[in-house]
Amino acid sequence: MDTAFCILNRTEYTGPQFAALPDAQRAQYRRHLVCVKCETTAYFRKEAKSGQGPCFGARPHTNCPLATPESVRGVGGGGEQDILHNPGTRIVIDEAQGGGPVVNGEPGGRGGAGSSGGRFTGTGSRQNAVSHRRLRPLLKNLIYSVAFRTSDIYVELPGRGAWPARDLFVNFSDVSKCRTQTLYGFWGVIYDTGTGYDDSLWINTGDREVVSIVIDPDSVQPFLTRHKITVGELDGSHILVFGTISKSGNGKQYIKPVSIELTALNDD
Ligand SMILES: [Zn+2]
Repeated sequence: MDTAFCILNRTEYTGPQFAALPDAQRAQYRRHLVCVKCETTAYFRKEAKSGQGPCFGARPHTNCPLATPESVRGVGGGGEQDILHNPGTRIVIDEAQGGGPVVNGEPGGRGGAGSSGGRFTGTGSRQNAVSHRRLRPLLKNLIYSVAFRTSDIYVELPGRGAWPARDLFVNFSDVSKCRTQTLYGFWGVIYDTGTGYDDSLWINTGDREVVSIVIDPDSVQPFLTRHKITVGELDGSHILVFGTISKSGNGKQYIKPVSIELTALNDD
């Protein structure tokens, strides 16, 4: 979207206008943006590396004329095929990008009672075709395809297990539904970042529940190098991170990534 409305100061901004605000003001206002047409919660996106100027986004953003340009760009925007074009596919996360060294049969996957997911045993016949996917195209499908994120297509993390997409992937705004000690693929928009007392990187999602992703001090540089990005460029990007959710002493929810390799960014 080219414009957004800040409900805090009742002002409409274009992307460049918003980008030009003083840092402190922008940091405050960016959590109070809505679509000028339908008032869906919106977020600010800085100028992208691809050259796209500062603008706004909203997800989900349906039944609104201003949502059209992004829908058109869709999952095909990066030359990636919508996973759902191959119904019945079981998706295996490409270890070249994703796995890292993993221990076969590692415990700690979701085995909890009441899970509609459960470990894929490999004996079922409902999914025959297997497709190998990297994380970034997977993130794009999560962003653009409601059908994919609510599907029961199995997604396998080699050596860790496999789960239906609808159980494995959780938007940041839904983390309250998650169990602790359980692996999920968390995804959504980055609102801003901060630095912990120990130089860890706190990636704040700013949604209703304001969960943060914590990157260990030793992993910050490998994380930035892997994604060829600076901390300042993270704001407004989408991120996918496999990890578990915890609560700090003061009740703040945070996500600990399983590994830097199991993260993906998209700043389209
Ligand atoms: Zn709208």
